[in-house]
Amino acid sequence: MSYNEEMYALGAKRSVIREIFEYSKKRAAEIGAQNVFDFSLGNPSVEPPAAISDTVMALVQKEGIHGYTSAQGDPTVRARIADHIRARHGVPITPDLIYMTCGAAASLAITLRALLHKGEECVVFAPFFTEYRVFVENAGGTLTVCAPLEKTFQVDVADLAKKLTPNTKAVILNSPNNPSGVVYSTDTVRGICDVLRQKSAEFGHPIYLIADEPYRELVYGEVEVPYLMKEYAHTVVCYSYSKSLSLPGERIGYIAVCPDMPDANDLYLAICGAGRSLGYVCAPALFQHLIAAHVDTTVDISHYRENRDLLLQALTSYGYECVRPDGAFYLFVKALESDANAFCERARAHELLLVPCDDFGVTGYVRIAYCVDRSRIERALPAFRALADEYRR
Ligand code: PLP
Repeated sequence: MSYNEEMYALGAKRSVIREIFEYSKKRAAEIGAQNVFDFSLGNPSVEPPAAISDTVMALVQKEGIHGYTSAQGDPTVRARIADHIRARHGVPITPDLIYMTCGAAASLAITLRALLHKGEECVVFAPFFTEYRVFVENAGGTLTVCAPLEKTFQVDVADLAKKLTPNTKAVILNSPNNPSGVVYSTDTVRGICDVLRQKSAEFGHPIYLIADEPYRELVYGEVEVPYLMKEYAHTVVCYSYSKSLSLPGERIGYIAVCPDMPDANDLYLAICGAGRSLGYVCAPALFQHLIAAHVDTTVDISHYRENRDLLLQALTSYGYECVRPDGAFYLFVKALESDANAFCERARAHELLLVPCDDFGVTGYVRIAYCVDRSRIERALPAFRALADEYRR
């Protein structure tokens, strides 16, 4: 092969979710979209707040708005984000530790490229976002997976302590979690940070904590999402507005380096270098300026909360075992047989399109993305019930 085999393999192999998405379109053409119950994609179903569209309309009229910004992002935009983090979380961050990106995916790819040397390990917690493997391996690292606690799907801190080695460089924590919807508790987070501090001291070098936070604003009820910079100095936050403002296609987010980190400025320069090496010239200018005007805005999450309540209540009453999601817009459900792929095939016969979670590092579970119209859930409920009845028979 005259080109890179690993890249070819990545491009040639469709993700499970993409494969389901293609099937969904084909099936909708055959039987009508209203008869296909597609719960595969995490594409927000709530429109961005009206103020966002108004600002976009106003910004496009401004002269010079489409020009390049500084590679790390427009300084006024970074200043607004730093102000926001200071006011909301009480962390004294400055704009020179904020780097604007094309969403959380770019934030992660850049951060991992900045941190990892060839062969170093990055620890993730199952269930985990499947693209972590791609980003870690592309940065030259290897992925180590920690098992979750049974039932609650919180992090098993004891397992983490066993998995850390002198070769571990970073740990990625994603809360609220895709695909489980679980928010890691303050106790869990403190337990993780204690182990990281202990092992960093033992190994004589810091283990970095990467907080992957596209779902930070999507939390239901009184649950707290601890801000990791306040818990652990060697934290890098990978933030995105894809879900908080329903702008996933516009590609906008940032990386924030914790100011308490002794080598914060050097790591920031490595992040600038990694962004440069990966060809990220600058994040989309129009959307950087949009964010500057809306650092405190979020979508109305009541639609997702109501969807969650409806699905959780109905599926539990049909006999499904669900993990209670306190955040994000995913329901993690135990398959009614041990093989989640086989279960999804049987669900498909009822036109239910669910995602088997083997690639997320947990077998026997499926993900239901409930960021969909309410009517899709209502129409799908009889199919969920029929599927459960079929297994009971
Ligand atoms: N991390 C997690 C856990 C996600 O679920 C996603 C997207 O769904 C991303 C990162 C990537 O987000 P973005 O669209 O901002 O690149």
